[in-house]
Amino acid sequence: MNAWRKHKGNPKPILERVPVPETPPTGFLVKLLASGVCHSDQALLDVEDRPQFDEKYILGHEGCGEILQIGDQVNDPSFKLGDRIALLAVPGCGEATCSECSRDLDQLCPNGKHHGIGQDGFYAEYVAIDVRGAIPVPDAVPSTVAAVATDAVNTAYHGITRRAEVKKSETVFLFGLGGLGFNAMQVVQHIGARVLVSDLRAEKLEAAAKHGIPREDIVPAGTSIPEFVINSGLQGKIDTVLDFVGTSQTFHDGQQIVRPGGKILCIGTLDRKNEVDMKIGIRKRLSFIFSYGGQKRDLVEVLDLIAKGVIRPQVETKGLLDFPQVLKDLCDGKIKDRVALVAE
Ligand SMILES: [Zn+2]
Ligand SMILES: [Zn+2]
Repeated sequence: MNAWRKHKGNPKPILERVPVPETPPTGFLVKLLASGVCHSDQALLDVEDRPQFDEKYILGHEGCGEILQIGDQVNDPSFKLGDRIALLAVPGCGEATCSECSRDLDQLCPNGKHHGIGQDGFYAEYVAIDVRGAIPVPDAVPSTVAAVATDAVNTAYHGITRRAEVKKSETVFLFGLGGLGFNAMQVVQHIGARVLVSDLRAEKLEAAAKHGIPREDIVPAGTSIPEFVINSGLQGKIDTVLDFVGTSQTFHDGQQIVRPGGKILCIGTLDRKNEVDMKIGIRKRLSFIFSYGGQKRDLVEVLDLIAKGVIRPQVETKGLLDFPQVLKDLCDGKIKDRVALVAE
């Protein structure tokens, strides 16, 4: 089968013919129907400092596929041949003895599979996965959307609902309306909290307006965020900042605008290092919250919300062979939302 692999020491993805994997006893052989392209694919191509990563592995950590074969130890009747499933890249091992799974931190599991993140992932025609990483896809959800839901929606959902615990009564400021941020906006709208949004791209702000964000809650591109907050009478009223950008500028502005006792959720990592103003952090008694990925129960809820039309992820479709160009366009800011690759 065709697959895009990362070779240690080489920052370029390599298209190769590799064998179709065998069906695992506790899982499925899956024919991939769609795989989402993520900004972190570039980081994965660049990093060489993760010794636990395989020397060569197939990239891609957002997937949706169809069950081709079922392992002989799988006895969960909710899965049948031909079913469509969303693929969780890091489902955890689930063992009671696991340092992380035993503390409900499956996405940090050091033992289970990490598809597309150091081990074989989804930029291929087939993949072998454990039943723990499979979530049935409702009929109303297209495969391309289900693929990006596993990370671009699920990471936003987990961060907002389970880490920052955003409530309906809150006023939220969201930095970034990209691949994750636009979904984050819809999650906050679903919760019912007021959400102010900012992005450098005017077309993303227009899309937010079309999606029901009132004009007065959209920061015009190029405007100073702290000034906008003061001029809108919102000084001291922003309960939670959602930083889906993570530049030194957004992280700085977030600390300025958040209210005393407020929270800052860190998801974006465009700058590797950002500065905490210790005085502001202490005087305001802020909570800085980091989040990574999401879990199976989040993805079940996410797919249900998508099936009901509550969250509508924006996805474009390209061919599997287009991966390098799509990734370049994504890094150059030329992709509006998310791209899912499908095998030709
Ligand atoms: Zn990702
Ligand atoms: Zn584990």
